Amino acid sequence: MTDTPRRLDAAAVRALTLSTEPWLSCEDCFHLTDQFAELVLSDPDTAEMPAMFVHLRACPACAEEAESLVALVAEEQGIDPTAALARLRG
Ligand SMILES: [Zn+2]
Repeated sequence: MTDTPRRLDAAAVRALTLSTEPWLSCEDCFHLTDQFAELVLSDPDTAEMPAMFVHLRACPACAEEAESLVALVAEEQGIDPTAALARLRG
């Protein structure tokens, strides 16, 4: 037997999984939630962090987490979270 099966390396897998739209895992999402909450409160119409919006629309668990954090940060900073929460809910 001289055949060696070809395998996809990590870069090839990444290229395949990223080819259609921005993608985040729940773990990536969790690590970015603080930064995301600050961003969406300072600019509810932001075009930054598009992968977060994609993820939050598809993942109710992370969306709930993000909404709670946005509400908390808004309260701490005396900001009205209405526009930010509306953006999160799409
Ligand atoms: Zn998630």
